[in-house]
Amino acid sequence: MKNIYGKTLEDLEEYFLSIGEKKFKAIQVYEWIYKKRCNSFDEMSNIKKEVIQKLKQDFSMSRIKLVKKQIGNDTKKYLFELEDGNKIEAVLMLHDYGNSLCISTQVGCNMNCSFCESGRLKKQRNLEVHEMVVQILEVERLENIRISHVVLMGIGEPFDNYENVIKFIHIINSGKGIDIGARHITVSTSGIIPKIKEFIKDGKQVNLAVSLHAPNDELRSKIMPVNKAYPLKKLMAALDQYIKETNRRVTFEYIMIKDVNDAEKCAYELSKLLKGKNCYVNLIPYNETSHIEYQRSPKENILKFYDILKKNKINVTIRREFGGNVSAACGQLRANS
Ligand code: SAH
Repeated sequence: MKNIYGKTLEDLEEYFLSIGEKKFKAIQVYEWIYKKRCNSFDEMSNIKKEVIQKLKQDFSMSRIKLVKKQIGNDTKKYLFELEDGNKIEAVLMLHDYGNSLCISTQVGCNMNCSFCESGRLKKQRNLEVHEMVVQILEVERLENIRISHVVLMGIGEPFDNYENVIKFIHIINSGKGIDIGARHITVSTSGIIPKIKEFIKDGKQVNLAVSLHAPNDELRSKIMPVNKAYPLKKLMAALDQYIKETNRRVTFEYIMIKDVNDAEKCAYELSKLLKGKNCYVNLIPYNETSHIEYQRSPKENILKFYDILKKNKINVTIRREFGGNVSAACGQLRANS
């Protein structure tokens, strides 16, 4: 049986036509699900009994189960269990501009980045579209809030689950659904070039972030094996194309790891690599985890790094520290449980 939360409005319109009903029923169903937040087909009181019966036969409305919740200062972290028993995480960050939810896109991850907890569990499978949608619905229900921003930076590589991710974005962006503005959605990738090119063609107005973490191939390949397949020169060329064709800025994430990528030399190299690009760099203090030896860069290294980029006219910010006390870095809650 298909899960209703994985269906676009257009899918449902097609469905209703196929069972000999008017297509506007799709909008009614969407309103029940996403505006009135009903929990069962029986609540859809303006839809006739036999159609409800049919819906019940063809679709499930099952969600995900909360297994564990960790509360920090302005962060909450959720461990969810999927129907097949696999576990994933979502992280809620309360900002002054709204509530941002970081969601997972896969069970495990195959990117194998040396600093990341998620990759310690190999990818078991991709998340289905509905499994991404319900992360938002479930957190909204649990906290009685609305999510205004969604970042695809939880467990998994979004561009290794490309089709489902694009469909997910389409669903949450729909004005008849959760209605999260494209500019409030950010996809983060470790740099899978063919998918970046597909993403350009798809023309979605969502933000693109790239996990860079090193300014040269030697170091990047060491900490991010994906760089061997998609080295920096080609990655930068693809991103130049993205910037040119979409007229949008790229965000580069750079986690600051002590004695690995935080030397002044790295900052100069990074400035050179990014010179003149429509981009900005987010310096992220590394979140230490018990299973991996890396340490967070000392504050003075981060500030020095920041200054060098600034002096070289690169747009740069230091990420306000989120989630340090709730093991909020990618995959940590799952790994600890
Ligand atoms: N696979 C995608 C998205 C998931 S990871 C990607 O690579 O972009 C989301 C971000 O968290 C990435 O930038 C990743 O490098 C970073 N990250 C992973 N472990 C971290 C840790 N311990 N501390 C800080 N950031 C971490």
